[in-house]
Amino acid sequence: MLTSIIGYPRVGTLRELKFATEKYFKQNLTQEELQETAKEIRKTQWSILKESGLDFIPSNDFSFYDNVLDTAVLFNIVPKRYKDLHLSELDTYFAMAKGYQKGHGDVRALAMKKWFNTNYHYMVPEIEDDTAIRLTGTKLFDEFEEALNLGIQTKPVITGPFTLLKLIRYTGVKQAKDFAQDLAAAYVEVLEKLQKTDALWLQFDEPYLVHDLSKEDIDLFKQLYTTILSNKGSVKILIQTYFGDVRDIYQELTSLDFDGIGLDFIEGKETLSLLKANDFPENKILFAGIINGKNIWRNHYGDSLSTLAWLKSAGIHTVINTSCSLLHVPYTLKNETKLADTYTKHFAFAEEKLTELADLKVLSELDSYESHPAFLANKSLFDHRENCYDPEVQKRVNEINEDDFVRFPDFYEREKIQKEVFHLPLFPTTTIGSFPQTSDIRANRTAFRKGNISKEEYIAFNKEKIAECVALQEEIDLDVLVHGEFERNDMVEYFGEKLNGYLFTEKAWVQSYGTRCVKPPIIWGDVSRTEPMTVDWSVYAQSLTDRPMKGMLTGPVTILNWSFPREDISIKESTYQIALAIRDEVLDLEANGIRVIQIDEAALREKLPLRKSDWYSEYLDWAIPAFRLVHSKVKAETQIHTHMCYSEFTDIIPAIDDMDADVITFEASRSDLLILDSLKENHFKTEVGPGVYDIHSPRVPSTEEIKEALVKMLQKIEPEKLWVNPDCGLKTRGNEETKKSLVNLVAAAKELRKNYK
Ligand code: GLN
Ligand code: ZN
Repeated sequence: MLTSIIGYPRVGTLRELKFATEKYFKQNLTQEELQETAKEIRKTQWSILKESGLDFIPSNDFSFYDNVLDTAVLFNIVPKRYKDLHLSELDTYFAMAKGYQKGHGDVRALAMKKWFNTNYHYMVPEIEDDTAIRLTGTKLFDEFEEALNLGIQTKPVITGPFTLLKLIRYTGVKQAKDFAQDLAAAYVEVLEKLQKTDALWLQFDEPYLVHDLSKEDIDLFKQLYTTILSNKGSVKILIQTYFGDVRDIYQELTSLDFDGIGLDFIEGKETLSLLKANDFPENKILFAGIINGKNIWRNHYGDSLSTLAWLKSAGIHTVINTSCSLLHVPYTLKNETKLADTYTKHFAFAEEKLTELADLKVLSELDSYESHPAFLANKSLFDHRENCYDPEVQKRVNEINEDDFVRFPDFYEREKIQKEVFHLPLFPTTTIGSFPQTSDIRANRTAFRKGNISKEEYIAFNKEKIAECVALQEEIDLDVLVHGEFERNDMVEYFGEKLNGYLFTEKAWVQSYGTRCVKPPIIWGDVSRTEPMTVDWSVYAQSLTDRPMKGMLTGPVTILNWSFPREDISIKESTYQIALAIRDEVLDLEANGIRVIQIDEAALREKLPLRKSDWYSEYLDWAIPAFRLVHSKVKAETQIHTHMCYSEFTDIIPAIDDMDADVITFEASRSDLLILDSLKENHFKTEVGPGVYDIHSPRVPSTEEIKEALVKMLQKIEPEKLWVNPDCGLKTRGNEETKKSLVNLVAAAKELRKNYK
């Protein structure tokens, strides 16, 4: 059996591409120098892949920003506003990715969206009615030749036409089907051009196929590929799917003239049963994604080998593959110097997954692999994990009962009680939690972390900042205050570091968007809390003011979703463990006089299954209760807030209401307030603070503009339920614009109150 991967990380093991592009933007690097860095990164990676013995080495999986954007540019899908800037090819590309503001040019970037169920984000291409789709780019061919010149035969990768048409934004009246013919013809051009090279395969990435598909979708898919495949020449075509199974299109997929079909055996729950129930054509190769491309744990060789053995016995020609691109895992364990081998031996980052592919290739060929050292070493990993199980934690989770998910009294009763005890004005004003993280604040944290200042000095500095922040909020006259989150680097890492069961890496970066990376912590074992994590800060902040001070926590679902989860227990169980730890914190805050507690669920939507039919049974049925578990035991007069970063929950409004928080704040300023309609339709009971301005921009919103937004909101939301706040935390903003914006926000709320006297 041969081996393949779908794609590889691409920012460089030490994020070289990120630093080089940043230099380039600051004009400290020429375009040639930037291209040189990129070339060097590609060369290093291809060599590593080649040396690992990998048979199908991808090319064109490199990107300066994003592969969907690359594909759009390849086909001339470049909106006029960028072309009109008359920049170089690369700068036009960057203008689409990041926006352009220089001289007379002032153009916004394309929208960015979450890439399926990952934390990676792709650029949403825009197509205009008069966009002429044709092959104008050369990146795919250039990178193929570049590898070939290094003596490396690669399999170029391209976003497939179906996925592209499903992800594109149509700015005119024309829709996907109106562009299908032209787009298919452009892909044919790619094939024809590739046939003139030494290329043997072309991989079409079609992850969109793992969604619930309509008849129109299937027709569109057939139309596109009938054209493409009827022009097939010497280059073989691999259609690659990932992030799920292809149950809605299996028949069409296997009956079209593809040479290879890539299926996901990790997230594709029904992949194996589809193969068992249907024939897989003899003249095609199955690229079997049995190594998890998204998580960092070692592959279970026993399981993989039995799958491979079944495929062999069924007479299916198989190539061993990863379940998705390795873009979603860090580069290599070689950069981790601080984690003990007891831990790291259980991990496989991208480079280590290459070894796994090589091992499986060898083992799958043996008549009996049970005594092979590689197999035995792997097997022993699953027999025991150190410091992983905590019977206390497991006992607590097992003892959770129905009552733990229900808060008493019910929402309406609580609302009455809280209106009385808090006496807040109509349209109460608040913020989401963090205040600007200026360089002195970061420097204080770094100095403490490095041992350059004492704990007392560190605390004293933060207390000073908290005092300033509280004074500022009183001066601005906000109603519900926050302490400012100066002690936090990141809303998940902060808690992870204080919880038992977590591990942290040094360089395990994973791309989030563009060349920006995040470093998710690893949930190693059972999670518990040893001592309060936030109480001192909140109590100190509350001592400075008579106004309610919000305690500030991250919710269990978000903590889980932004970590690498365990695979030996369910994510539901992990989340419940975290929920119990956060619940302890909630109750401690309450016991120490904090009367408003915000539990952020910024990433709640992140792991929502791609298929609607799975939304509740696979996810919401435990994720929403996990949130309730955290706050069910607080008193009626304690007000629970939650916050979500995206307002893309129009379709799960009832589930959000079921979290049973007293107040929810969310981003709304960029979403045309569409969500308000569905709040109304669904008789949303929770009080709401749809963000009145966009904190992602340094722009100061005027009082008038905020008032207008509020007036619009009031058409859909009862006045007694409306809160006034920015749409997210203020940590990335500067002090000056923050103060001005908040002053205007409070002024807008006050003016509006007058109309309601
Ligand atoms: N409380 C956090 C903050 O204000 C919330 C951040 C977020 O939603 N991503 O920074
Ligand atoms: Zn947010």
